[in-house]
Amino acid sequence: MKRANIIWLIIVPLALTSFVGAWGYDGHRRINYMDIDSEEFHRHFIDADYYDEYPFTKIPKKYEELISLYGEDKIRKYGIAPWAINETCERIIDLLKKNQLEEAIYNMGVVGHYIADLHMPLHTVINYNGQFSGNDGIHKRWEHRLVDEYVKKIKPVGKIETVEDPWSFSMKIVKESFKLHHLILEADTKARKLLTKEQADRLNSYDVLSFEKPYLDSLYDDTGNLLNERMGRAVMRLASLWNYCWEQAGRPKLP
Ligand SMILES: [Zn+2]
Repeated sequence: MKRANIIWLIIVPLALTSFVGAWGYDGHRRINYMDIDSEEFHRHFIDADYYDEYPFTKIPKKYEELISLYGEDKIRKYGIAPWAINETCERIIDLLKKNQLEEAIYNMGVVGHYIADLHMPLHTVINYNGQFSGNDGIHKRWEHRLVDEYVKKIKPVGKIETVEDPWSFSMKIVKESFKLHHLILEADTKARKLLTKEQADRLNSYDVLSFEKPYLDSLYDDTGNLLNERMGRAVMRLASLWNYCWEQAGRPKLP
């Protein structure tokens, strides 16, 4: 077996374990606006359709250019995940080169959160909580409640991919996620018809709701495959990115 293949045997399960609860982290902050870590929160998403129309070719790769086009306030509101991923990868590469493994591994976990988040379709649109389409509350129901109730384990999907550069790799994921977000909104529209108006109004909360089972069942029937596919793909994307960092660092010996 080639050395590179052995790395996958280690890297994929590692990527998998680093995912547990990855989606649980930012959603709270985003919708609650409580306890916001203002330096961190906008690194977990990009409302790509604020910056440009699909397929987002006008979004600048250079962070400085993004800032000068939109200003600090707007980018905090609409997100910078692809640039955050790029920056974190640069840090990982640097740390690996310097053999500071502990810190490198910490940052590999951080980038894992960002990658997981970008695979969540509602992390790539302005309408991230269905607030503009009568789907208020879908973010949390899809990202947390479905995962809690139905997902027992994450199965990796896809293969290790070649990463040209982390930003372009991230934008590829953004485009892919963006194209899928309608499916979630449509499934929500259908599922909330199973509830009364008063019940549906309560979906936009953090509460586990006594009456939500038929709603969740319907949502999972229609989007369960999508949910599992996005999480599984995120694992392989993360493994791909870690591999990229490791190669860029000159393939340092791992313990
Ligand atoms: Zn979220």
